[in-house]
Amino acid sequence: MMPEIGPVLVPAGEIQRKVRELGERITRDYAGQNLLLVGILRGAFVVLSDLIRQIEIPCEVDFMEVSSYGAGTTSSGVVRILKDLEEDISGRHVLIVEDIIDTGLTLSYLRRSLLARKPASLEICALLSKPARRQVDIQVRYQGFEVPDVFVVGYGIDYAGFYRNLRDIYALKQP
Ligand code: 5GP
Ligand code: MG
Ligand code: MG
Repeated sequence: MMPEIGPVLVPAGEIQRKVRELGERITRDYAGQNLLLVGILRGAFVVLSDLIRQIEIPCEVDFMEVSSYGAGTTSSGVVRILKDLEEDISGRHVLIVEDIIDTGLTLSYLRRSLLARKPASLEICALLSKPARRQVDIQVRYQGFEVPDVFVVGYGIDYAGFYRNLRDIYALKQP
């Protein structure tokens, strides 16, 4: 049985306003440069597709897919790369786009792994963050919303593959 969705945590209108604001900041910060947006599949595909249309500098897109909550807990901080980048990022300005930061272990691993490829710069944009769950310190230059320690779905973020198509962000109803 599919768990029901609970209350709206972040309504679509607020998401759109925030994404526009992040796009404007990114446009200003990278003025005069080219940018490579790296979306983390699959959850980030919706925020990335909205965000890129709010960015007014030349930018390209690439994707990575990593295993998160798959086998056991993420306590080791070792993340499996299921799909790597197509692009060579050395000397490029790279912005990782993630749906949600929970413990921070996935992004901290990705950051280290991408820094080893010598980009000109590497920053992180995350639509949501659960600060209460953080296990490692991670610098998020472009942050959307903080959410409480609940399981969220919608706007690209799934439960068992579903609910990505919802326009708002919801908490799953507790059983
Ligand atoms: P972290 O390594 O920061 O603990 O995990 C990050 C990843 O876990 C996110 O990119 C996301 O895929 C998944 N995740 C964390 N919290 C939630 C949540 O509340 N709902 C869903 N669907 N995925 C989550
Ligand atoms: Mg994710
Ligand atoms: Mg998921």
